[in-house]
Amino acid sequence: MNKNEYMKEAESHLIHVYNRFPVVFEKGEGVYLYDTDGKKYLDFASGIGVMAFGYNDKEYNDALKAQIDKIIHTSNLFYHEPLLPAAEKVCEISGMDRVFFTNSGAEAIEGALKTAKKYAYKKHGKGNYEVIAMENSFHGRTVGAVSVTGTTHYREPFYPLMDGARFANFNDLDSVKKLIDKNTCAIITETVQGEGGVTPATKRFMQGLRKLCDENDILLIIDEIQCGMGRTGTTYAFEQYGVKPDILTTAKALGGGVPVGAFLVTEKVAADSLEPGDHGSTYGGNPFVLAAVSKSIDIIEGRKLPQHVKELTPYFEKILDSFTEKYDFVKGHRGLGFMQGLIIDKSIPVGEILNKALEEGLVIISAEGNLVRFLPPLIMDKAGFDEMEEKLNKVFGTF
Ligand SMILES: *Cc1c(COP(=O)(O)O)cnc(C)c1O
Repeated sequence: MNKNEYMKEAESHLIHVYNRFPVVFEKGEGVYLYDTDGKKYLDFASGIGVMAFGYNDKEYNDALKAQIDKIIHTSNLFYHEPLLPAAEKVCEISGMDRVFFTNSGAEAIEGALKTAKKYAYKKHGKGNYEVIAMENSFHGRTVGAVSVTGTTHYREPFYPLMDGARFANFNDLDSVKKLIDKNTCAIITETVQGEGGVTPATKRFMQGLRKLCDENDILLIIDEIQCGMGRTGTTYAFEQYGVKPDILTTAKALGGGVPVGAFLVTEKVAADSLEPGDHGSTYGGNPFVLAAVSKSIDIIEGRKLPQHVKELTPYFEKILDSFTEKYDFVKGHRGLGFMQGLIIDKSIPVGEILNKALEEGLVIISAEGNLVRFLPPLIMDKAGFDEMEEKLNKVFGTF
């Protein structure tokens, strides 16, 4: 079956919610992907920020294979061997006290919302609490997560959603203040907005949110599903802002490729929120994925990947600056560390750039606002950045 037949046949069975790029990947090695025709691609997307240490890492693969031969699943009615080390490690790298493992980012958000609601319920004894979220945010596709996602077209077809979500403007503290009242139980924000436009929060905003939450006994939920696990140059981006969440969500790179997420809480929140019977998951944090989480954390921290990101970011940004200088339709870039967006003039649909890049053997993705989004594996080195520059210059030269 050739590629076109394959794609056509696959689409005949799939619910059509993705306009997939015309490529069928077969394998990966380091920062490169290979399709079924043997064509090689430089990966600047990492499966949307998941493959932090690239593809086919022997140490990681061996750990997963060993776990498969022992036990894959037990349910959460029992303890299992990988549970303690994974829980211990994720608490340690985040500075949080307790964790619940989920199967995805959206489920981590669901858990965070339930925790915040239960906290307010226990403290003040009534329900109907509101959550303040940000415009242009992205928190996932389940009903609860979509309810706090600040993009109307993701929400509108599915009304009525979770009650009590209110939207403030990202990086506008006054707009948040205006929405706070006695029914507010939480504020939820990404530290660096991902899908919504690769926009870092300002220090003033994050510190202001922390203060507002402390003053009003409101919980601060920080969503680092995309920007966490070293992507911005520190293990979690909030470290660079001098703030700490009450509830943290993390996923994507957490398991190095297996479907896993987590929400973490401080002891203060744990003491007054979820209790036995309030929450659960059949798979959540099963032995297989937690063996992956443990090994991913060992690799990301052990190989000092956050430090590597910090060191290479100026090199990356200089290349992005050079695009802005060379091409009129490139309006600048924004982001933090290895999470960067190149702003493209509206006259050029970013999809055309992505497709041409793919032909050139470069995988990049988009973000809201006609942005080219770069989420390279954290192991990307100077040679990789040079290769990206060369390929993108070829692509940009055709416009
Ligand atoms: C990807 C993402 C999610 C949703 O994660 P899924 O695993 O796709 O459910 C939530 N928040 C942020 C910031 C994300 O980037």
